[in-house]
Amino acid sequence: MTLSPRMPVLFVGHGSPMNVIEDNRWSQNFSALRTLVPPPKAILAVSAHWYVDGTYVTAQANPRTIHDFSGFPKALYEIEYPAPGQRQLASRIRNLLGAERATLSTEWGLDHGTWSVLRWMFPQADVPVVQVSIDRRLPPRKHFELGRAIADLRDEGVLILGSGNIVHNLRDAFQRLRTGTAGTPDWAQRFDAAVAETVTQQDTNRLVRLVADDDGPTAHPTLDHWLPLLYAVGASDRDDAVSFPIDGFDLGSLSMRSVVFTPAP
Ligand code: ZN
Repeated sequence: MTLSPRMPVLFVGHGSPMNVIEDNRWSQNFSALRTLVPPPKAILAVSAHWYVDGTYVTAQANPRTIHDFSGFPKALYEIEYPAPGQRQLASRIRNLLGAERATLSTEWGLDHGTWSVLRWMFPQADVPVVQVSIDRRLPPRKHFELGRAIADLRDEGVLILGSGNIVHNLRDAFQRLRTGTAGTPDWAQRFDAAVAETVTQQDTNRLVRLVADDDGPTAHPTLDHWLPLLYAVGASDRDDAVSFPIDGFDLGSLSMRSVVFTPAP
């Protein structure tokens, strides 16, 4: 293993699959994230869209592009993100997560939580990507601990990417769209701000409880888009600088806030 400078950790709010084919504020911001990280040797992605009973690690040489959405324009289904996998890294991740817990898998591939962001950040698809599933049976704190378990990969040139959304209540967002209701509801603003504060303060105990408190259940009726943040925070260090290169809401209540944890120089 060759030493490389410690990599930042990223959490990205991916939002609508339309960000893949639209040149909009969000896709432009995803492209700009590239300037915040040194070129990675590989990427470990934890996406909201692989939310299953178990911890799996993609192990194919060439993971397939999964179009895991319905009712979108044809152009979106034609997009391929042919980044290679990396079996050796997959095995290393499995060992770090615990061989008794994690299983190598060739069933999945790269879903749109991963490639809708990476397509803008690394359009050449030339950086190997390994995706890790989210075990929906585990409590939030455990996901944070799994994030800690993979933190050493940062010293091996691996970019850890969590992809979800800090506020994600699609029922509310679609209702706003249907009824033409403008603006962001107070509960979404409050939850987004509470997360930003908690992440900045690196208050882990509060962070793992946040989704069950006050506005948490409205912000996240299900935890799939919440938990990728806990992997990113878990992989961060106390000394990292915390910044939010992207913020704001799409569809009224969908938080697009993204976080970068940058190592101290
Ligand atoms: Zn999503």
